Amino acid sequence: MPPKPFASAPGDHAAFRPSSPNPRGAIHICILGGGFGGLYCALALHRHLGKASRVRITLVEPRDRFNFTPLLYELLTYELAPWEIAPAYRDLLKPTTVDLRQDWAEHIDLAQQRVTLRHAEPLTYDYLVVALGSQMRPPTTPGSQTHTLPFNTLQDAEQMEQRLGELEHLPQVRVVVAGAGPSGVELACKLSDRLGSRGHVTVVDRRGEILRSYPARLQRAAACALAKRGVDVYLDAAIEAVDASGLTFSHEGKTLHCQADLMLWTVGTVPRSWLGENGLKQTAFGQCQVQPTLQLPNYSNVFVLGDMAAMPAPGRDRAPTTAQAAYQAGPTVAQNVLALIANRPLKPFIYNHLGDMLTLGQGEAVVCGFGLCITGRLGGLSRRWAYWLRLPTSAHRWRVLKHWLGLKR
Ligand SMILES: Cc1cc2nc3c(=O)[nH]c(=O)nc-3n(C[C@H](O)[C@H](O)[C@H](O)COP(=O)(O)OP(=O)(O)OC[C@H]3O[C@@H](n4cnc5c(N)ncnc54)[C@H](O)[C@@H]3O)c2cc1C
Repeated sequence: MPPKPFASAPGDHAAFRPSSPNPRGAIHICILGGGFGGLYCALALHRHLGKASRVRITLVEPRDRFNFTPLLYELLTYELAPWEIAPAYRDLLKPTTVDLRQDWAEHIDLAQQRVTLRHAEPLTYDYLVVALGSQMRPPTTPGSQTHTLPFNTLQDAEQMEQRLGELEHLPQVRVVVAGAGPSGVELACKLSDRLGSRGHVTVVDRRGEILRSYPARLQRAAACALAKRGVDVYLDAAIEAVDASGLTFSHEGKTLHCQADLMLWTVGTVPRSWLGENGLKQTAFGQCQVQPTLQLPNYSNVFVLGDMAAMPAPGRDRAPTTAQAAYQAGPTVAQNVLALIANRPLKPFIYNHLGDMLTLGQGEAVVCGFGLCITGRLGGLSRRWAYWLRLPTSAHRWRVLKHWLGLKR
């Protein structure tokens, strides 16, 4: 049975062409990127379609494990283990019909409806979902790439663990964190707790406040947590250079050099570039312009979501580049792809801001939402619970819960 046509948007270049080389004449949905947008979209598609469906779903993702990034910090204090926050895709997708290709997508040919892969034959799609996330902002500060560590992935956390192991013999460990955004603040608190009296942590940021764009109550809670741990914070400080001995920055008209044994670079990320011909509409921040349904303008069978897309959000110019937004968009895109296949109307994505959460040291967090702000241990428990609910697949959630309750896995 050939796939059903879908309603094309005015000026749509992608008038439906059944993609020929796929077996059994099945409709082929191809998802690029298995993060919060892509993986949760694949799982939602499987839930809607079930096993008997003639729709094929392929997920292209180079990593072997999903990274639940908001909980990466807990690895540094051994509060959580890698298997809990970075389950293998093979295990997550085993009960589903999603076909995992562990590979890099290298090029998207929108006209031919084809994706070129780094290590395998190209994939031809009927529907394409693109969720490649962000990457580190290209470093411009001399020495930063050579002498600092990033903290974005499980691999980065493992690298940091190795570096901390190398510093084990030192009586004092000096840590400098560049950037006082959420990652910088969360890392500073966790590392302070991990190192205890052996550690001295400094945070340096060029802006005049920590956690810019976060609610004032959350900023205050974070400032308290940093002060309680004796973390030195330099704001309005322009980092000039990094070398093996430490970090040089200007502050209040003086040039200071902060000696460090471990330097972390958390000065922000940028959306990954589109993998194809230019000419797509992008924002100044580098995100793809998408329709409210998260379809690419002029290519209604292509959806872009997560950090890569300027997703609409009520009362804001766009949804934030967070797991929260990508996680909400994944199931919306799944529903819209299925609506398109069934020739039903599509729904606009409506971002719902549920609040903000940050871990502020071992077992502690701040959770702000619905007019409430919970801090300390209770905040830590609330945050852990909120993230447990959002772990991918019920089987993985149960494994983790049983482990937390001390039951056999
Ligand atoms: C350390 C850290 C902590 C964070 N904490 C929070 C938090 O507390 N709360 C919150 O809401 N957000 C948090 N975020 C932000 C959140 O992780 C992102 O906003 C979210 O992951 C975006 O989802 P996404 O699907 O767009 O991209 P991602 O989840 O990053 O997924 C993109 C996927 O695409 C894959 N990929 C990349 N290139 C290719 C390619 N060429 N071919 C195929 N696949 C490719 C990547 O391997 C990755 O798996 C944090 C981020 C980091 C790094």
